[in-house]
Amino acid sequence: MASKPPSLTVGQALRQATTFLTEQGIDSPRLTAELLLCRALRKERLYLYAHPEAPLPELAWIHYGRWLHERTQGKPLQYITQEQEFYGRPFRVAPGVLIPRPETELLIELALQNGPTQLLDIGTGSGILAITLSLEWNIETYATDLSGPALAIAQANAKTLGARVHFVQSDLAAAFADARFGGIVTNPPYVPSVDQPTLQREVRDWEPPEALFSGPDGLDHYRRLEPVCRRLLRPGGWLLGEFGQGQSEALQTLFSGWSAATIHPDLAQIPRVLSARHRYL
Ligand code: GLN
Repeated sequence: MASKPPSLTVGQALRQATTFLTEQGIDSPRLTAELLLCRALRKERLYLYAHPEAPLPELAWIHYGRWLHERTQGKPLQYITQEQEFYGRPFRVAPGVLIPRPETELLIELALQNGPTQLLDIGTGSGILAITLSLEWNIETYATDLSGPALAIAQANAKTLGARVHFVQSDLAAAFADARFGGIVTNPPYVPSVDQPTLQREVRDWEPPEALFSGPDGLDHYRRLEPVCRRLLRPGGWLLGEFGQGQSEALQTLFSGWSAATIHPDLAQIPRVLSARHRYL
C-alpha cells in the first residue's frame, strides 16, 4: 500500500487490496478485502457493489490499510472485524475467546433434538452455546468459564442478543452443587499439545491456548469432565461434547459407564460430537 493517502475509489481500493492479499498468500482475498472495507466504511457489502466510484474517506483508508496489514501478519479476520456469525446470529469475538467454528453448530442441532431442559454450558468462551440454546428455547441457561475476559465478552453477547444466561466464573463447574441439570453442553479445549506446531498460524499464534490445548492427547479436560458431568446431571440427563480427530475411541471408553454413548460426525464426516446419557441408578 502507498504511504500517503491517495484519492482512491471504493472499487480501486477493493481491487488493490485483493491483489495485495493474493500476493501475500491470504485465503479468500476478495472476500477478505470486501469485509474489511465494509468495516472501514461502516457499510453493508451491497454498498461496495452499488457505489464502486465513491471516494474512500481518508479515515476509512487508514483503518483499511492497517487491517489489511494485520491480516497479512496472520491475525484472523474475525479478530479484526470483531465478529463471527454462529447459528444465524452475530457474536462479538476478541483474542480472549476462541472464534466460533461452523462445525460446532452440530452440537446445537443435537441439543435441539433433545428439547428444552435446565442447561449448563461448561467453558462457554464467547457464549455461543448457552446463548443460542437460551434463545432457541426461550429459557434461562447457565454457563461457566475460567477466564474473566471470556465471560465479559459472553456477557456482552448475551446482552446484545437478548439472551437470559447466568454466567459463573469457575474451573469447569466447581461452583455448582450436585445433580441439578437436565443437559450439559461443552466445547472444551481438546487439541493435543503435541499438535501445536502443525496448527494454522491464525490459530496457533492468535487464539487463546487455554481454549485449545488439553495435554499431550487432547483429553485432559474430558478426563476431568466425565465425573463432573456425572455429578451435575440428573439421572437420564444428557451430555453433548465436541471433540477432535482421532478421539472417538478414547471418549467411548471414558464414557462407557454412561448409557447410549454415541459419536456424531460433522458435515465433513469427521467424528465431532459425543452424546451420552447419565444412567438411571
Ligand atoms: N476446533 C478447534 C480447532 O481445531 C479446536 C476447538 C477446541 O479445542 N475446542 O482449532
